[in-house]
Amino acid sequence: MSNEVRVRFAPSPTGALHIGGLRTAMYNYLFARKHNGTMILRIEDTDQSRYVDGAEEYIKESLKWAGILPDEGPNAGGPYGPYRQSERKDIYGQYAQQLLNSGKAYYAFDTTEELDALRQRLKEAKANSLQYNAITRMQMKNSLTLSAQEVEKRLAAGEPYVIRFKIPLKEDIRINDMVRDWVVVHSSTLDDKILVKSDGMPTYHLANVVDDHLMKITHVIRGEEWLPSAPLHVLLYRALGWEGTMPQFAHLPLLLKPDGNGKLSKRDGDKLGFPVFPINGDFPGKTGKPEHFSGFREAGYLPEAFVNFLALLGWNPGTEQELFSLEELVRHFSLERINKAGAKFDIEKARWFNQQYIKQKSPSELSTYLIKELKNQDIDYKEHLLERICDLMQERIDFPFQLWTEGQFFFLKPTTFDQQLIAKKWTDEAITILTAYQASLAESSDSISAEEARDILSNILDTKGVKMGKVMQALRLAITGRGGGPDLMEIISILGSDEVADRIQYAIDNVKVSTSN
Ligand code: GLU
Repeated sequence: MSNEVRVRFAPSPTGALHIGGLRTAMYNYLFARKHNGTMILRIEDTDQSRYVDGAEEYIKESLKWAGILPDEGPNAGGPYGPYRQSERKDIYGQYAQQLLNSGKAYYAFDTTEELDALRQRLKEAKANSLQYNAITRMQMKNSLTLSAQEVEKRLAAGEPYVIRFKIPLKEDIRINDMVRDWVVVHSSTLDDKILVKSDGMPTYHLANVVDDHLMKITHVIRGEEWLPSAPLHVLLYRALGWEGTMPQFAHLPLLLKPDGNGKLSKRDGDKLGFPVFPINGDFPGKTGKPEHFSGFREAGYLPEAFVNFLALLGWNPGTEQELFSLEELVRHFSLERINKAGAKFDIEKARWFNQQYIKQKSPSELSTYLIKELKNQDIDYKEHLLERICDLMQERIDFPFQLWTEGQFFFLKPTTFDQQLIAKKWTDEAITILTAYQASLAESSDSISAEEARDILSNILDTKGVKMGKVMQALRLAITGRGGGPDLMEIISILGSDEVADRIQYAIDNVKVSTSN
């Protein structure tokens, strides 16, 4: 066997992909790239009862947005396809048959009532586990307890059956997990899992192991919730005679709620107002009712910031470096540096990453976001000013959409004014200065530099003996409607003297100090 690394991301299309799932995909991708290996996307859709229309598309779109492009998969194709388990149905039967033939699996004909009765009996006997296992299987209706003729008869009559795996009674199963080191599980804690359901479809366990083997997967990197299934998978590899080429396992830590108390859920996001999914989607929720799943993409996160943020939730580079492009992540990534402990989700950190990546963008890149917004709002703009506006706003925003929400005054005259600021700063003294400034600007040429705008104001202030600090907020209020924002003289220069003179006049005529407070 060649030692080419082959990994897979194997989601089930049951709804929106939680960001934990996207992180799993990303770690698989990083590991594959790092070792010049291959990453496969395999859609695990054997459970038709949980299948949700549109979920596969959602998964692919999320991966694409994050820049995680599988080398093999339903779209990319590849030599080990098909990559959708529902299209591989015929493959699994022969392996179930192999296990039946070698006595490693058996037919079970028990009805739902009989299974309920077993559970009830075990409950009453206060048994440690309520399972179909090495002990209880001998009390049930299966090909271990029924005669060969009886089994034949039932099969020939088309009686419903499942195929169960015969878990050995007493065996230690040792798994060398790349994240958790040795995990040892005793077989007596496992039940005789169903491998083939009564509808003839394989269960996740059988299909997953068969496909990992046939697709020559070398490393299974997946969420911690699958760790309890790993011993069963090891036994299946053994039973199928594939132990020699069994993949190595790496089970990833959970993503935790912000307070660290339990797994991060959609409800946490809804409650605390942050996304828990990569992109927006509408799918049936837990109760079956349609629900909205809000995504990082639509909340204004840049894919590179999202990827960087997510990569560090569960993996650490071992240095102080925090900013990593996808290429840099590939270079630094290793399974050894995945943390064992769960990672607390911190939306402020995500925001911080977004801000860092916005700072790295050129004003011309940023202006594309602004143009989109202006077009959406049907607002006229002067193309040559956009980069200057973005340059001024860049340091002040966490999200591209804020170029518009925080910078609207570059395009629209303010018609409402911050009441608190009026109460504090709209003084007679300020109005006198503003009136003079307005008159000067009205007479200057429309095109004005920030320095010229400042000089004109300074002259007026000097003549009248008023300090700059006494009027700046009122001036800002008149021009932008609000307090805070980028350098006011730069704003004046971008707007031009005529527009600013108009705005000051409008404010003088319309801003009223409320007498009620
Ligand atoms: N289909 C499983 C899931 O939805 C895959 C688990 C695995 O990677 O083995 O997560």
